[in-house]
Amino acid sequence: MKILVINSGSSSLKYQLIDMETERVLAKGNCERIGIAHSNFIYKAHGRTIEQEVEMPNHNVAVKLVLNKLTDSEIGVISSMSEIDGVGHRVVASGEAFKKPTLVTPESMKLMEEIKDLAPLHNPAAIVGIKACLSEMPNTPMVLVFDTGFHFTMPDYAYMYAIDYAHYEKYHIRRYGAHGTSHKFVAQEAAKYLKKDVKDLKIITCHLGNGSSITAVNGGRCIDTSMGFTPLAGVPMGTRSGDIDYSAAEYIAKKENMTVSETLNYLNKKCGVLGVSGVSSDFRDLSDAASNGNYRAELALNMFAYGVKKYIGAYAAALNGVDVIVFTAGIGENDDVVRRKSLQNLDYLGVKLDERKNSSCPRGEIAEIQSADSKVKILVIPTNEELVIARETMLEAKLG
Ligand code: AMP
Repeated sequence: MKILVINSGSSSLKYQLIDMETERVLAKGNCERIGIAHSNFIYKAHGRTIEQEVEMPNHNVAVKLVLNKLTDSEIGVISSMSEIDGVGHRVVASGEAFKKPTLVTPESMKLMEEIKDLAPLHNPAAIVGIKACLSEMPNTPMVLVFDTGFHFTMPDYAYMYAIDYAHYEKYHIRRYGAHGTSHKFVAQEAAKYLKKDVKDLKIITCHLGNGSSITAVNGGRCIDTSMGFTPLAGVPMGTRSGDIDYSAAEYIAKKENMTVSETLNYLNKKCGVLGVSGVSSDFRDLSDAASNGNYRAELALNMFAYGVKKYIGAYAAALNGVDVIVFTAGIGENDDVVRRKSLQNLDYLGVKLDERKNSSCPRGEIAEIQSADSKVKILVIPTNEELVIARETMLEAKLG
C-alpha cells in the first residue's frame, strides 16, 4: 500500500511517497518556483538527491514531473502509477465546512471553492494542486486532510470569540487552530513512547517552527489551541505578531496610512521576532545576534519563550494538570535555549528540566529531557505531518 502526500503552495508542491506497511518514505521532494522563471525540481530517493532546473509553468507540469521521476527506470521507486493507492492532500483551512478528512469528490471540491478565502494564500493553491493530480490520476482515490481537523473537539467556550453571536452564525468566525496533524502525531507518539494509553494523558504540545502553536490535549482530544481564526494568533512567530490588542494595530495603520489588508500583511509578514529584532525571523540568526550582545535579538527570544510559557501555564489550568509537555518542529526540536527559557520557573507545576539532557538532546529522535524529580515528562519529538496525512488518507479512502 503506497500513499502519495501532496502539500501545494501557490508556487510550490512538496511531495512524499510513503509505503504504509513500513511507514517508510520511499521518495520525497519539492517543486519550487512553479510558474516563475528558473523553476527548481528536487527529488530524493535511494539515498540520492537530484536537483534540476526544469520549466514548470503550472502545477500540472509539476505533478507530471513528480510521477515521471517516481516511475523512472533508474531512480524511480515504483514501476507504474497504478502502484499509488491513494493521494492525501494537505489543506490549511476548513472553516466549519469540513470537520474531518474528506474524499475528493465534485461535491467536496465545490465546498473547497466556497471556503477559498478563509486562507487566501493557501487554499486556492491546494485546489490547483488537487486538480493537477486529478488530471494525471483520475481513478486514484484522493483525500483532503485539514490542518484544522484535530481541533474540532474543542468545546464551544474555547473556540468561540466574544463577538456578536450573529457574526459567528453568519460567517463562522471562531477559533480553528492550525498544525493539527502535527499536534495529533506528537501526542500519539508521546503516549506510545511512554507506553501509556493516550486516553489517560494530559499533554501540552508545543509546535514551535516558523509558525508556532501550542495545544492542550486531554485524552488524545484537543481541548484548546493557541492559533485562532487564522494562524496569526497565539505566540509571537517568525514574522507574525501573535496575539495583539486590535486597537494597537488600528493605531499603527492610521499613523502609517495602511489599508486593512496592508495592516494584515504587516502583522503577518513584518512583525514577530523579525519585527522586534530587526535581525531575522530565523532563530539561529537570533541566537547568534543575541550572543553577540544584540539587545533586540535577545528581547525577541525572551518574548517568544515567555509567550510559550504563558500558554503552558494556561493549558495546565485548562487541563487541570499536565502529565507531558512535548516540543516539536524546527525550533522545538532544535533550540535548547528556547526550551530552557520556556520552562523556567515552572516547578510549581512539577516541571523540572534536566539542563544537560536538554542541551545534548540528539537530533531526529525522541528524547526525554526532564530531571529525575520532575513530575511532568518533557519530551522532544520529531514531527511527521506527512505520515498523519497518509494514515488519514488510508482510513478515509478505506484502503488496506
Ligand atoms: P519549521 O517551520 O518547523 O520548518 O521551523 C523553521 C524554523 O526552525 C527556522 O526558521 C528556524 O528558526 C528554526 N530552526 C531550525 N533549525 C534550528 C536550529 N538548529 N536551531 C535553532 N532553530 C532552528
